[in-house]
Amino acid sequence: MRTFKYPERNHGSEIEFVFFRGVFHFTQRVNIVTTFTELQISNEIVRAMKDMGWEEPTPVQIAAIPVGLKGADMYAQAQTGTGKTGTYGSIILERVMPGTRDVSALVLVPTRELANQVSQELDKLSRYTGHRCLPIYGGVGIEPQIAKLRRGTDIVVATPGRAKDLINRSDLDLSKVSVVVLDEADRMLDMGFARDLNFILSKVPKRRQSLLFSATMSPEIRELAMRQMVRPKEILVSRDEPVLDLTSQYYIVTEKENKRDALYTLLDRYEPKAIVFCHTRHKVDQVAKKMKRHNYLAGAIHGDVAQNKREKVLQGFKDGSIRVLVATDVAARGLDIDSVDLVINFDAPNDPDTYVHRIGRTGRAGKEGMSVSIFLPEEHKMVRDLERRTGKPIEKMDIEILHKPEPEVKKLEEVRMSVLASAERPKAKRSGSQGNVASIEINLGNTDRIGKGEIVRLVRGDTDLVSRDVGKITMGDRYTYVEVFRKDAEKVIVSLCDQSFRGKAVRARVV
Ligand code: AMP
Repeated sequence: MRTFKYPERNHGSEIEFVFFRGVFHFTQRVNIVTTFTELQISNEIVRAMKDMGWEEPTPVQIAAIPVGLKGADMYAQAQTGTGKTGTYGSIILERVMPGTRDVSALVLVPTRELANQVSQELDKLSRYTGHRCLPIYGGVGIEPQIAKLRRGTDIVVATPGRAKDLINRSDLDLSKVSVVVLDEADRMLDMGFARDLNFILSKVPKRRQSLLFSATMSPEIRELAMRQMVRPKEILVSRDEPVLDLTSQYYIVTEKENKRDALYTLLDRYEPKAIVFCHTRHKVDQVAKKMKRHNYLAGAIHGDVAQNKREKVLQGFKDGSIRVLVATDVAARGLDIDSVDLVINFDAPNDPDTYVHRIGRTGRAGKEGMSVSIFLPEEHKMVRDLERRTGKPIEKMDIEILHKPEPEVKKLEEVRMSVLASAERPKAKRSGSQGNVASIEINLGNTDRIGKGEIVRLVRGDTDLVSRDVGKITMGDRYTYVEVFRKDAEKVIVSLCDQSFRGKAVRARVV
């Protein structure tokens, strides 16, 4: 299957062409949209943002604005172009009263160009709030800047050298500052402003909110943050990268046959709104089906789920009638869903990028989140790569996996249905079971447009059978006969009866 993507940012949607089984499929997906209003930004500022053509917040804005509006100190890794000015701009405008004539917010930047640029952006953002903003920097006459400072301003955007000069001349009073921003902090340190920064910050009241933005996160930057801030939150974002700061990451190592019990144990312990990721569509169906049997409010989405069913499942997930969404990576991409409490990697991700995108589904918009990866013993070594990729520790979860037996009632029901189905079944040619080989009849054939490869996949299902354990396959129009070892027959039938093929429930019996 090949996928061609054409992202249409302006419409908040994504058009996807999927070439599958010789046909072009066309789907339109809605992106993950968190609105500025959902981030608790006031109408006046949202209006200004709309005037500036901003339709939806960027990842750093989604991650950092809710944290900043709570008054927390933070340091964020964000390059130019990520929307960082809008991030701290909104925080300042929300937290600082306009029109007091005192300098209430100070933004320190490395260069004159940046001082002008930031000041212009703040002017635009404050169009309806009435905050006043003044850029000050070296290399030009100091007197006009002093005159403007005397007229009063709410926000000063300054380069460190000129700010220090103005403080020394008693023309810049920082005693009323309640929010300080260090923008491009790494560049300021590179340019040798460390001492000036310390001096300036010593003139700002200790009870203040400090926000630091830096394109890189070196030990020096962290040290500066630790020295100047109180219990700062760390936020790491690059372009198009989910934010993992509020997500605690764990893993569990278990054998294949205990994976489902591990999943149930997690769901029982946390009762979360959760997404469970599986490798394949088939696995998604299987896992969701078994969960439903255990009375979990589960819904499945993957590429084979019809559009109307998919919408129903997503609506259910939004209104709470579905608490656990079981999904493939492709199906989960671009879904318009809020942050979830827990992301469970039922199947290990293919690569670290997939991991980051999966767990980016939790811990968003200022909410705490958790992710748990269920690894097989041989997958365990992946943890170090994932830690390197996320820059965060992934801890082994201290949890006792409880065994949950399959519900008995359902099993009986299945047996009854299987008997009923076989009573109605026409006679078909078959070799029948002999010796240690059992012949299994499956209610799928040529008219179901199924191939032998898919039959093998269904027969193996969630059992431990490998391909060579599946013997001769005889396909008819409506039924297929497959030979397996007699000792495997029962588990194959139980597994087959749990599956569906293109929406049709699979039925099987030994003949
Ligand atoms: P910055 O990272 O602050 O340098 O911002 C880079 C550019 O992105 C600036 O031109 C901003 O005006 C613009 N920008 C910031 N936030 C948004 C947004 N949410 N939507 C669209 N453009 C934005």
